[in-house]
Amino acid sequence: MNARIVVVGSLNLDRTYSLGRLPREGESLHATGHEVASGGKGANQAVAASLLGADVRLVGAVGADAAGTLLLDAVAASGVDVTGVRRRPDGSTGEAVIFVDDDGQNLIVISPGANATVAADDVATVDADWVLSGFEIPDEAVIAAAHHAHAADARFVLNPSPFRLIPDALRHAVDVMVVNEHELVEALGAAVDSSSDAELQQARASLSVPQLVVTLGAAGAAAVSGSGVFRAPGRAVTAVDTSGAGDAFTGALVARLAAGDALEAATVFATQVGAHAATRPGTQSSYPTSAELDRWLQ
Ligand code: ADP
Repeated sequence: MNARIVVVGSLNLDRTYSLGRLPREGESLHATGHEVASGGKGANQAVAASLLGADVRLVGAVGADAAGTLLLDAVAASGVDVTGVRRRPDGSTGEAVIFVDDDGQNLIVISPGANATVAADDVATVDADWVLSGFEIPDEAVIAAAHHAHAADARFVLNPSPFRLIPDALRHAVDVMVVNEHELVEALGAAVDSSSDAELQQARASLSVPQLVVTLGAAGAAAVSGSGVFRAPGRAVTAVDTSGAGDAFTGALVARLAAGDALEAATVFATQVGAHAATRPGTQSSYPTSAELDRWLQ
């Protein structure tokens, strides 16, 4: 039987506006394009894992509005069990407003909406082998996710993104932490040279996590554990839009860990999925199924 993954995380309606350049303070500009899509880090990661064949349930919250229906339908269409996503009658669905200029630079404003209401009670039904959570929902819900993971003898994966201080209650509850280079610096509160194996080992020790995975953009990723530092080189691609590449990576990593892969093999696989996501526009729409990934890798 497939190992069960529960993602306790966010769902956002992504509203992306294309602009020749980003607006300055006080300036009004006309967008050259406008797209609406299913997003949010929790939903992205759940979709990425599900498309790759994992058994995934998403726990979170949306409003009882049209955006909430759109998100639930989109995530369910990728095979994710959305019965754990609550609908808040009085709340609005989370939204991300994204401005992207012709050079691919972006500005993002997130209105958390119902994501800010995810509470420990919503997480009480976690029944899984692997639990993945992140920081677009309140600490209380992430701590509850870790707590239930351990009570169920499941492994807990934390993607502390967007970064905020990691609560003490989580510090020793994490089995695998996944961060990008910026988040690693913020988590450590100090600069780190991610090309140095010694510094990455030191980072893992400082964070007190058994396994640390650092994504390195085009350079791939590093998996750091008690057995050393393993580097999965990036796949050389022409990047079109790297938004959501980190979520594709994290979803793919957990999908492979849940399937029984060692951390190193799962990291190699996840860098391929991250690279695939970077070659397609959008977030969830850039994520491959296993068959699409196999064809792309040939
Ligand atoms: P985030 O999106 O969180 O900032 P990264 O930029 O590190 O995270 O990207 C996550 C993963 O996506 C990387 O580990 C890599 O596998 C893949 N990736 C991202 N950008 C590129 C790129 N330009 N070329 C190839 N792979 C990429």
